[in-house]
Amino acid sequence: MPDCCVVGGGVIGLSIARELSSRGLAVTVVSRDPIQSSASWAAGGIFPAQPSSDTLPPGLSPLEQLTWASDRLHHRWAADLRDETGIDTGFRCCGTLALDVSAPTAAELRDDVLRWQRLGVRHEPLPTDTIATLEPALAAAVASGFVRGGYLLPDETQVRPPRHLAALRASCLARGVELLDGGCVREFETTAGRIAAVRLQPSGTGPDSLTADFVCIAGGAWSEGLLAPLGFSIPTRPWRGQMLLQRTAPGLLHRVINLGAGFEYLIPRADGRLLVGSTLEDAGFDASTTAPALNHLRSLLQAILPDLSFAAPEATWAGLRPGSPDGLPTIGQLPDVANGWLATGHHRAGLHLSTGTAVAIADLICGESPQQPLDSFSPERHQTAATVVR
Ligand SMILES: Cc1cc2nc3c(=O)[nH]c(=O)nc-3n(C[C@H](O)[C@H](O)[C@H](O)COP(=O)(O)OP(=O)(O)OC[C@H]3O[C@@H](n4cnc5c(N)ncnc54)[C@H](O)[C@@H]3O)c2cc1C
Repeated sequence: MPDCCVVGGGVIGLSIARELSSRGLAVTVVSRDPIQSSASWAAGGIFPAQPSSDTLPPGLSPLEQLTWASDRLHHRWAADLRDETGIDTGFRCCGTLALDVSAPTAAELRDDVLRWQRLGVRHEPLPTDTIATLEPALAAAVASGFVRGGYLLPDETQVRPPRHLAALRASCLARGVELLDGGCVREFETTAGRIAAVRLQPSGTGPDSLTADFVCIAGGAWSEGLLAPLGFSIPTRPWRGQMLLQRTAPGLLHRVINLGAGFEYLIPRADGRLLVGSTLEDAGFDASTTAPALNHLRSLLQAILPDLSFAAPEATWAGLRPGSPDGLPTIGQLPDVANGWLATGHHRAGLHLSTGTAVAIADLICGESPQQPLDSFSPERHQTAATVVR
């Protein structure tokens, strides 16, 4: 019998499993879908620049503290994952140009500057001729007036999500974690305020049920449905994001290119692949791509690099971000379920927040004091009269 059953094999579930196993717990991860169907695989892998100080800067909100801690952990995890598994996750400090291309992006940047100043994030205003010097591929967009100015954020990092997930899976397996791929959790059997069994859809090959001392639900956008039989309504509404992958010459762009606050972006990989993203759509659990969204991403690419012509994309895909009504993740113990834990609702930042979330959940399960304040993320905050369904 495992000490802990983690439901969900995305970046949150795998990171939790890795952290728990490193603390000596036997862990099983139950994961319904192929990894390519997860939000984690679909993500761009941008990690916004953090305060450059070595100690936690004062005055940060709980989410900013978790982000800062997660960011620092990523530096260590990327090196450890490479040593343990031989997989280079593509984690690198590439820097970002945050561009002003319209009135809305100019307004977003004005807000961002205030936030960067408050947090102590390194940023540098750039005249347009410097933008073209730093990234010669942008010269045409500068000359045409599409790019009107911007900022350099030298400390922004990126990771390649499929590689990060492959490394996490390999690291988990090397630590003895059991990965139950294709296992679909149907419900949880509770007795005396504890999850006594995790019931799975009969598959003919895997087990029909699992028992564990602890159960941690990390089901991404599907967490709300998973929790319903337990009597909780914790909203993790899916927000679809579409992506387009283009092959370009290596070195065409060196930095991530954000339009304004980064809802739309280009992410250059070291091998020349260029990701163009993304959208934020309320489309239920429909994770298909659509022609209008892909056309929009293509026109974005053409506007930023107008003097280049592009072949058909190498790939396109969509993923479902796990939403959260207040923009905060949910991390903590399930109310009135002594051995039930929850880590979900990371919306647009789950890759980035995965390391800090894993350490926080492992601290809580192991009875240690978490290093960041977690009260703002507690599952209880969703349990208002309107949302309690049991
Ligand atoms: C287009 C796009 C771009 C993004 N870009 C970034 C970015 O640049 N930086 C960043 O930090 N974040 C980014 N994100 C957000 C990030 O991807 C998510 O916040 C994160 O991946 C959520 O991880 P998760 O493990 O909670 O969910 P998921 O990765 O979706 O995993 C959920 C898991 O639960 C499993 N599951 C569901 N139901 C069941 C069941 N009944 N039984 C068993 N298993 C079940 C699924 O099979 C899956 O393994 C992006 C997301 C998208 C879609």
